[in-house]
Amino acid sequence: MEIESILCPSCGTAVESTSHIFLKCNIVKELFHKITSWWDANYMELSSYEDWIEWLLNLRLSPKHKSMLEGISYTMWWTIWNFRNMNIFGSKLQSKASLFEEIVSRSFYWCKFRCEVLSQRDMA
Ligand SMILES: [Zn+2]
Repeated sequence: MEIESILCPSCGTAVESTSHIFLKCNIVKELFHKITSWWDANYMELSSYEDWIEWLLNLRLSPKHKSMLEGISYTMWWTIWNFRNMNIFGSKLQSKASLFEEIVSRSFYWCKFRCEVLSQRDMA
């Protein structure tokens, strides 16, 4: 009988759980750290979704910038989830090194799209 691995497919060092994949995994910590330095925001270790909300609320940034960081966080989680699935079901392994760049480019695309929607709404 084959037993499937219950280790996190992203780092392979911890048992996979939702809080591990999205918050506690070293890959997520590293990415979140890069995002906070990119935005010159305070880094905080996250162990729950509530921690993330607290982090977001306490940022010394304008509401506009906070909502951008909110979107970037969702982009990070989406990218991590995608990375995990690619490692499990994909035919080739995706490089961890490209994850941050992916988040940056997806965030720009998301922001551009969002800003276009907002400006269209303003004109209507
Ligand atoms: Zn992990």
